[in-house]
Amino acid sequence: MANYSLPIIGNSDARFAVNKIICIGRNYAEHAREMGHDPEREPPFFFFKPQSSLAQNGDDFIHPDFSQQVEHEIELVIAIGKSGHKIAREHAADYVSGFAVGLDMTCRDIQKEAKKLGRPWELAKGFDGSAPCTAIQTGTLADLEQFGDLVLTRNSEEVQRGNWRDMIWSVPELIVEVSRYIKLEAGDLIFTGTPAGVGKVNPGDKLCAALEGFPQELILNVHPMN
Ligand code: MN
Repeated sequence: MANYSLPIIGNSDARFAVNKIICIGRNYAEHAREMGHDPEREPPFFFFKPQSSLAQNGDDFIHPDFSQQVEHEIELVIAIGKSGHKIAREHAADYVSGFAVGLDMTCRDIQKEAKKLGRPWELAKGFDGSAPCTAIQTGTLADLEQFGDLVLTRNSEEVQRGNWRDMIWSVPELIVEVSRYIKLEAGDLIFTGTPAGVGKVNPGDKLCAALEGFPQELILNVHPMN
């Protein structure tokens, strides 16, 4: 059985064992608008990626051969440290055990078709390697304050920038909202949504995803599928 885990920054003896991957959709107003939605009328929501979508620094990103429009979405990732359901707002901070920077890689053409046909998004969002992530920096909710903008460069050119403080659902609200419906478990990762500026990647591209104040960048080299 596969072992899905991420390194922990500053602790080479331990790994963060990854359970499920929860992704938040349309959590930044400007991104919701760039996708043609009104954030006032359509609140954020969530979907899942399989564990097999997980990748980490050093892994090659293989561009799926079934999509002509793979796009990058840089996201703050929250590591969940303990299990709970229907978590109250005042207890939400207790469930945060750390942070990472991730990319919600998306086959936009397939997602558009799925939206049109009313089909699920798994093929667009859950392909192998579609959730690359840095190592986990352990910390409490208060530690989030030391981080600034999420910044993505593609071939050294800045293409996406946004600040986690502009999320429609804050980190505690995400924990409350998601746990209203499904239990959160130790090892879960929450990809908290992307700011505006999503764009296409091509084989040969090099992406670098950073969070100001976070000690590690996520480097993604895009390779063709052979
Ligand atoms: Mn996303």
